[in-house]
Amino acid sequence: MEENLDDIKKEVLSCEKCELFKFRTNPVFGEGNVRAKIMFIGEAPGFNEDKKGKPFCGQAGKILDELLDSVGIKRNEIYITNILKCRPPNNRDPKLEEIQSCTPYLEKQIEIVNPKIICTLGNYSTEFILKKYGLGNQIQGISKIHGKVFEVKTLFHNIKIVPLYHPAVATYNPNMKEILKKDFQILKNFQKL
Ligand code: URA
Repeated sequence: MEENLDDIKKEVLSCEKCELFKFRTNPVFGEGNVRAKIMFIGEAPGFNEDKKGKPFCGQAGKILDELLDSVGIKRNEIYITNILKCRPPNNRDPKLEEIQSCTPYLEKQIEIVNPKIICTLGNYSTEFILKKYGLGNQIQGISKIHGKVFEVKTLFHNIKIVPLYHPAVATYNPNMKEILKKDFQILKNFQKL
């Protein structure tokens, strides 16, 4: 039988593939519309996400909601998850071995949801997704490639990859919210896809 998101979620809930399981309160699998056209991929759960087991439910999540609202997209239309499913202690950066252990879950989520547009939030998810789709030679810091649209052909359809700043940058730098808002406008063009 084909795997579905619930099967993978079960695996994540009991995952001990890297040391992060020792520190977590809850793994954060991801949530949203299983048939979403747009998938957002963040970095890793923070304090609030770890407590609640839900992605983007803290400060960065509030900003994300505001950005989605600015282009008329509802949270329940999208699918949202992270590169890492467990919170790194003190929100430190993900380690390479953690990314390698955890991203097979993300790969399955992408395969099942089969989005047409993947919005990567911040450097870690941008690098992972560009590499996954054979665009490793396009990788640059997020300040250089935010707001660009990369198109890739897969077996079944074309995917657009849109690197964006991580919304958390706007929590300590309000000017960044305007840049994010501008980049989010791109998504308006994709409403009809
Ligand atoms: N930052 C992320 O990258 N993901 C979350 O779920 C919350 C904050």
